[in-house]
Amino acid sequence: MYGGETPFFNMNIRNVAIIAHVDHGKTTLVDALLRQSKTKLDKEVDSADLIMDSNELERERGITIFSKNASVVWNETKINIIDTPGHADFGGEVERVLTMADGCLLLVDAKEGPMPQTRFVLRQALAKKLRIIVVVNKIDRPDARIHYVLDKTLDLFLELGASDEIADFPIVYASGKEGKAGLEPDLSTMTDIAPVFDAILEHIPAPSGDAAKPLQMLMTTLSSDSFKGRIAIGRIYNGTIKAGQDVMHINRDGEMKRHRLVSLMTFEGLGRVDIKEAQAGDIVAISGIPDITIGETIASVENPIALPLLAIEEPTVMMTFGVNTSPFAGQEGEYKTSRQIRERLYKELETDVALRVEDLPTGEWNVSGRGELHLAIVIERLRREGYEFQVSRPQVIEKVVDGVKMTPYEQLFLEVPQDYSGAVMQKLGERRGELKDMRSDENGITSFEFIIATKDLFGYRSEFITDTKGLGIMNMSFYEYAKDSGSTLRRDRGSLIAFETGVTTLYGLTGVQDRGDLFIGPQYQVYKGQVIGQHSRPEDLRINVCKTKQLSNMRSKGDGSMEHFNVPHVMGLEDALEYIGDDELVEVTPKNIRMRKKILDELEERRKKAQGIA
Ligand code: GDP
Repeated sequence: MYGGETPFFNMNIRNVAIIAHVDHGKTTLVDALLRQSKTKLDKEVDSADLIMDSNELERERGITIFSKNASVVWNETKINIIDTPGHADFGGEVERVLTMADGCLLLVDAKEGPMPQTRFVLRQALAKKLRIIVVVNKIDRPDARIHYVLDKTLDLFLELGASDEIADFPIVYASGKEGKAGLEPDLSTMTDIAPVFDAILEHIPAPSGDAAKPLQMLMTTLSSDSFKGRIAIGRIYNGTIKAGQDVMHINRDGEMKRHRLVSLMTFEGLGRVDIKEAQAGDIVAISGIPDITIGETIASVENPIALPLLAIEEPTVMMTFGVNTSPFAGQEGEYKTSRQIRERLYKELETDVALRVEDLPTGEWNVSGRGELHLAIVIERLRREGYEFQVSRPQVIEKVVDGVKMTPYEQLFLEVPQDYSGAVMQKLGERRGELKDMRSDENGITSFEFIIATKDLFGYRSEFITDTKGLGIMNMSFYEYAKDSGSTLRRDRGSLIAFETGVTTLYGLTGVQDRGDLFIGPQYQVYKGQVIGQHSRPEDLRINVCKTKQLSNMRSKGDGSMEHFNVPHVMGLEDALEYIGDDELVEVTPKNIRMRKKILDELEERRKKAQGIA
């Protein structure tokens, strides 16, 4: 019944979002669901083809960045599974994808319990009053502690303000890995994964909507396809939709335009298949409307009525991207010309609605997004694809409303072991954070909620990680634009800068390490004007780190043995973006992240400063 005909038509439907912390077993569980459902349909599944797998970037960061759709069929019911991004920087996207769902599976590791990262998504699911089924996964783990995990989950629901009815959640125990589930936490009584399906059919309501009414479909996600062009994915609220039919596109401004659908697709497993027809309640993908974007409605031509628009969050942070102009330019990247970079940035706009790109007269681009993390992820993806470029320090996007300068504020959520809560309070106090809530639990974890200006928060992530010895968890989401509370805390130390182009030597580095904190070790190619460390004093210092030892008989401290050399503080992309000042840049290539002065030459820098240019 698959493939081409009109599969899924007239089938019962359930739309379920899946909320899980990375590594709690989402991929494995969805794969088990898919396998079992396919077994019933006598279809072979390629065992190497794990679906919904997180990509490398997501895994490293412990968050899901891209939402995906999948679908399985069970007992004549099509279950659409909607993946949710797991980070508050993507809050807008979470909210949008949740509008497609009528309920959620909250997947929790039987040892670790619910993680703070899933809290934001859960909060939004609760705000939408979605029914939530808790799946305690990995119960085969010898160190599983089911009671603890359930207690923690209930606490979390109550803390997030769940109603009594929703906090009385149905529970399914599972071992996704063994493909088994049950209503009791006893693996030996389980035979297959069916209890997960049964719980979905029982507890998650069928989508409302009337197939007999005029068509209304709301777009929630975009993707692009080299053959089909722009693809929009969304849920049909009313009516039926047919491949090749004419539809009315109602855009954000309420303007209507008639288009013919080029293709209509639905999800089968993780893949998309072309179909002829689909009806209210289902989630489908369409192509043929080139300028469609998220939040807009597709409606019937005869009776076009828009659904409530979905908001797209405004960008709050901006960076300038440019062609790499460092002395090492062009050596490490595959794509490095202005045309290549510009094309790639504009391509990103096709699927990322929260991103903005603006051409500057200088040949550079202002790229704006939802936060430092959002932009850092865009940069990281380009870099991994082989692009080379340079970016400036992130800046907040301010607005003037009725003559008053307004700046964005964030809602900041932190969880830290109690021992470090003093340092957190102090640092955020200095950054003028306003404490909204603070509570400690019996395990010695303190959670904080602050409201803080986005610009006052710049650079805090890395301090926070250091201050909490890597044990703290930090999440933030856009709060509001409000009056600017004045000047911002700036980096109070200058940079250590390579004085000449060459290869760093242990001798040279050891000789200057007392001047501050070094970012690089020996045997690195550096260029004149490259930032290689942070000075312990407010001004910049140009130092010779490529110096080789004079031949002499004298031995001294710092003569070039590793035992005297402090381990350098190697800066990753986000560290570098947080660190650099307005007169510095981050040089991004597939092989290296370097920081540099905008003006590499000291004399020229001084001259420009004197003339008030730099
Ligand atoms: P995701 O990041 O949430 O998609 O998680 P994955 O499905 O990739 O699983 C993360 C890790 O947990 C992998 O090493 C899996 O083998 C392991 N895992 C997944 N499900 C189970 C389970 O039911 N029991 C045990 N013991 N391990 C599991």
